[in-house]
Amino acid sequence: MDRIYADCAATTPISESALQVMTECMRIHYGNPSSAHQNGREAARILEEARGKIAACIGAEPEEIYFTSGGTEADNQAILTAAMYGKLIGKRHMIFSQVEHHAVLNCIPALEKAGFEITLLGVDMAGNVSIKELKAACRKDTILAAVMYVNNEVGTVEPAAEIGQLCRERDILFHIDGVAAAGHIPVQVKELGADMFSLSAHKFHGPRGIGVLYVDKRIPVANLMFGGSQERDKRPGTQNVPGAAAMARALCDSVAALEEQTRKMERLRERLLCGLKDVEGMWLNGNPESRVPGIINLGFEGVSGEALMLLLDLNGISVSTGAACNTESVEPSHVLTAMGLSPERARSCIRISLSVCNTEEEIDTICRAVSEAVERART
Ligand SMILES: *Cc1c(COP(=O)(O)O)cnc(C)c1O
Repeated sequence: MDRIYADCAATTPISESALQVMTECMRIHYGNPSSAHQNGREAARILEEARGKIAACIGAEPEEIYFTSGGTEADNQAILTAAMYGKLIGKRHMIFSQVEHHAVLNCIPALEKAGFEITLLGVDMAGNVSIKELKAACRKDTILAAVMYVNNEVGTVEPAAEIGQLCRERDILFHIDGVAAAGHIPVQVKELGADMFSLSAHKFHGPRGIGVLYVDKRIPVANLMFGGSQERDKRPGTQNVPGAAAMARALCDSVAALEEQTRKMERLRERLLCGLKDVEGMWLNGNPESRVPGIINLGFEGVSGEALMLLLDLNGISVSTGAACNTESVEPSHVLTAMGLSPERARSCIRISLSVCNTEEEIDTICRAVSEAVERART
């Protein structure tokens, strides 16, 4: 039997159209976009076309789009950009939410070593930051607030536009980790008041290893690496043209079909929750309203999430216990504990994350398998 893949917040299967764009680009447009000859110019044209499409999808200008190797690099470059700018103008305080991805949180030791002070914003039971708490955390020397748009573990949507406005009023740079949002909910960076915004193609049916950092053009971008003059001197190295082209294709496809796909995902979510409603001691993590439909984080009293995940795996179903990056750690999810779950309860959760590739039949199979696995794990 075919396996059921329900870990789309970790990575999504590449779409046929993105795959086709990618292979065609590799086969035909293999030139180096920095080369002056015909092959190079052709590759550069493909790259700039991809930049333009991605910019249009998020309401940015092409010169505000920097291609990176993915979400992690984009987040790191955004934070370094804020740090360098802060250093320049004498601001040494940053605000991150506690539920950020490790691509943001694990920058903290290096930032502290460099003399920055970081305030971590708590979240409520639904996983949302409080605007009031954010307001109270702002200081005269605050250079950056970094709050993600969609949480990748529980699917909660943060009040990004409100945060953006608050930051504008206080001259604070606002970085949004939008990796779990782009392609899943509408994104207009200017309306959100984002100064910086990260995207990663493999979270919306594009290939792995390609991402984008949007930076508002009035902000001086800092380099993570040094080398050639690619990406307007800000991100050296021969660009991943096939990746960029496929990313643009995947994003355009997702954005074009967003409403229809959201309706489908809502139906799948409903079906899943309905199919599991008789499982005793189950609860739903995250904001029941302000959320993306595809990320469904469930807790089961008295059951180890890890055991559940492994039982489901044996039954041909891929889910996760949280972020994929943390499979090695025995620590309970920092997101769930920030939301107020005890470590024990946080260890009783699994994340089922769906995409439009999943079918209603698969959902029914997942429901049966989860019910059985919970029972087995309890006995
Ligand atoms: C996946 C993810 C990242 C990391 O992106 P990569 O492209 O895998 O480096 C960062 N932030 C969030 C919210 C994510 O879901």
